[in-house]
Amino acid sequence: MSQLPGIGKRTALRLVLHLLKQPKEQTGFLSQALLNMREDIKFCRSCHNISDTTVCEICANSGRNHQTICVVEDIRDVMAIENTGQYKGIYHVLGGKISPIEGVGPGQLNISSLVEKVKSGKVIEIIFALSSTMEGDTTNFYIYKQIAESEIVISTIARGISVGDELEYADEITLGRSILHRVPFEKTFKNN
Ligand SMILES: [Zn+2]
Repeated sequence: MSQLPGIGKRTALRLVLHLLKQPKEQTGFLSQALLNMREDIKFCRSCHNISDTTVCEICANSGRNHQTICVVEDIRDVMAIENTGQYKGIYHVLGGKISPIEGVGPGQLNISSLVEKVKSGKVIEIIFALSSTMEGDTTNFYIYKQIAESEIVISTIARGISVGDELEYADEITLGRSILHRVPFEKTFKNN
């Protein structure tokens, strides 16, 4: 229990004591629900978003702009951006950020499938929407280096969101605006 994010030893103990007080079948239901979640939930073959079908609802929607791809860290970011109702393109979920401290290298993230998509020539714009932390910037730049040669627009969401804020916690209006007023990625590291 204490290995779950945000749950320290004390909370873990409280949860365990709670479960022990419940009828035994209650724990059975919970265990089964957790197993079902792992069994049933798949990841979209195309964008790696969470999905109960091989291709997620967003990728399968022909009304969306499939030539614009918003690159995000995880599915919480997809949810946050979808909630703004301002974005009509599709996504690419990396599954994390490059973080040498946490031992996460580019090979563990969904980067090569993104580079392949760009090289397929079907993409017009890539929008980086990772949090503006050092790991986020490192990841953006790593991907940028691999796709910079392609003749596509590479942009980043406008930083109405202050440094260190996670997209998940940004308010919908600010986040929606930062997507609409995105800036060329090169401007964020050149000329200064
Ligand atoms: Zn998808």
